[in-house]
Amino acid sequence: MTDMKSNLHSRLRTLADNLWWTWHPELISNRLSDLDPRLWRQVDHNPVAFMNQVTPAQVEERASELVLHSRINYAFRRLNEYVEDHNTWGAIHCGNLNNRPVAYFSAEFGLHESIPIYSGGLGILAGDHLKSASDLGIPLIGIGLLYHQGYFCQRLNKDGWQEEDYINLDVNMLPLRPVMDSKGVPMVVRVDTRSNPLLARVWEIQVGRIRLMLLDSNIEGNSQKDRELTSRLYGGDHEQRIRQELLLGIGGARILQGLNIFPGVLHLNEGHSSFAILEEVRRIMEYDQIPFKRALRRVSLYTVFTTHTPVAAGHDRFSPDLIEEHLGVFRENLGLSHRDFMALGRVNPADSAETFCMTVLALKSSRRANGVSAIHGDVSRLMWNCLWPDRIESEIPIGHITNGVHILSWLAPQMYQLFQTRLGQDWPSRMIHPDVWEKVADIDDAELWETHQTLKMRLIGFVRRRLQKQAERLGQRDMLKHIEHILDPEVLTIGCARRFATYKRGDLIVADLERLTRLLKDPRRPIQIIFAGKAHPRDNEGKHLLQRIAQLSYTKKFRSSIVFVENYDYNVARHLVQGVDVWLNTPRRPLEACGTSGQKVVLNGGLNLSVLDGWWNEAYDGKNGFAIGHGGMHNDLAVQNQRDSEYLYETLEREVIPLYYQRDVHGVPSQWVKRMKHAMQTLGWRFNADRMVKDYVERFYLPAANATSTET
Ligand SMILES: *Cc1c(COP(=O)(O)O)cnc(C)c1O
Repeated sequence: MTDMKSNLHSRLRTLADNLWWTWHPELISNRLSDLDPRLWRQVDHNPVAFMNQVTPAQVEERASELVLHSRINYAFRRLNEYVEDHNTWGAIHCGNLNNRPVAYFSAEFGLHESIPIYSGGLGILAGDHLKSASDLGIPLIGIGLLYHQGYFCQRLNKDGWQEEDYINLDVNMLPLRPVMDSKGVPMVVRVDTRSNPLLARVWEIQVGRIRLMLLDSNIEGNSQKDRELTSRLYGGDHEQRIRQELLLGIGGARILQGLNIFPGVLHLNEGHSSFAILEEVRRIMEYDQIPFKRALRRVSLYTVFTTHTPVAAGHDRFSPDLIEEHLGVFRENLGLSHRDFMALGRVNPADSAETFCMTVLALKSSRRANGVSAIHGDVSRLMWNCLWPDRIESEIPIGHITNGVHILSWLAPQMYQLFQTRLGQDWPSRMIHPDVWEKVADIDDAELWETHQTLKMRLIGFVRRRLQKQAERLGQRDMLKHIEHILDPEVLTIGCARRFATYKRGDLIVADLERLTRLLKDPRRPIQIIFAGKAHPRDNEGKHLLQRIAQLSYTKKFRSSIVFVENYDYNVARHLVQGVDVWLNTPRRPLEACGTSGQKVVLNGGLNLSVLDGWWNEAYDGKNGFAIGHGGMHNDLAVQNQRDSEYLYETLEREVIPLYYQRDVHGVPSQWVKRMKHAMQTLGWRFNADRMVKDYVERFYLPAANATSTET
């Protein structure tokens, strides 16, 4: 037998080094938390940081005391089985991709709170895509950027105003490995510009079976400014933005070349990485000695583009000068004139005043493109009709694949256990089949309700701890005395967490404060609301929205029933979606591309209360949650806001609140639980990332890979 001491420590290290642990909390997080709960919290649930701070002897001693050996060994075995399993769905269905994987490009990836390289929905979606691709065994490689300061940490001050902190990552605290080139030295990719060349080293993170490559410009040889290029997400000006995108697209494609990996599919998650298409074209021109136009045609056959932005202003555009400065050298390699190059990113190639749009480049040079919900598909076809002026709207080649969430990453362990016993142990691999969720009917109402209440209590404990810390920092003595009276598990609890962008209308529910007060203070049937969300550092309007809510939450009158939790991130989101009764979403239709946070509450037993936009527009059936209004729109913003808030209060007063407080003799809200179950049954199998990734494979990846293998 090998030395048990180093063994246990090194096994935990191996577990910590593969993000598979992020979706098996019951196997690993719980063990580390058993070993040292205080340290586990202190390192913010980061297992690499945790393992850096304990010695093999300490691990051995604690594990013996707590009899944890067999559990840790079990987790280790499960990971190995997972990684080595060749019997996956992908192995059976993705034959053509096995030698030529999908290259999945994204400017952000949300995988866990300890890896802050995401800002919101786009990143979480990309992270969930990787995790499901791993579970399904899809040959896929992720490519992104390593941000040393992430997006930002949000703190509120005494006036409820958002302040931003930037904390530098310690790369030793992340499960990163340097990627080696073919000569066995750490890989450096280089992109030449008219001024100084741009260099980046490459890190790799293991996400289950999937490799995620991250470019990092903080190396010697770069100017100071370029060393900071990958420090923040969405932080800089246009110049920083184009340099980041140069690195992501062109640098990212060069990583693959350095590893001798030739992608069968390029999947661009949003337009930030569109330059990857051109680098792939350059490679094909050189390799096959064919002209630009033919190479572009070939690459477009295997390029898949997913757009996420339903507002014209949200698409990246660069001036001709910026393009020439940064892509001039590259353009000459392609043998294109400035005008021809600009034409690739222009709606009207002849219009020399038009800027270069990354989305236009992607749409023009990909054979397959999609929006992220049915309604967003419609919006996108309308928006980009200009690229195909001679076609009617329904023939614009943009389809849709509705987003889904990676269930095991968002499901509470308590619910997971309940499903294990009631739905059969294999439910996670069969979740896209409706019959799995039919069995939810067999779960005892009281047991489901109890489980949900336990999760709500956990959420309330979490919120109180956060508010206590905040109050200590701000010296709010009154608030400190009041902490134990904040929120009540018996009260209907509404979660409302989102980016504080104006179109999301995070303040819609406080539009009529008098009417809301009546609901909050109703002696028999009160409600309470938990808010969270960040405003972009330069979005003053969003910050004012947020401040209004934060200030209400500080007042004596509302502090028990309106709370604002700082620093909305993966961790805050997980607590919220697992514990609330109702998830509130109030975007201005049709500006929510999909919205995925509401999908996260479904299997945890939460009900959606949402405007009929994004995914909810195709999900709501009248009984699996609640709708705000009927999907109407109005050109006058004030009118639309007024109507929607009216609908919101009405739905709360007439439907949501009465249903929640209607109890049977055992205190169970049986009609409410019926709706919880109906939501699980009608939504569980559809709005998950396994279904989404399979859709991408069947509708896009395989046809794209097949198109190239038959083209000569
Ligand atoms: C899921 C999630 C989002 C995306 O949610 P929306 O519904 O698009 O607002 C944003 N941020 C975090 C932290 C999330 O977990």
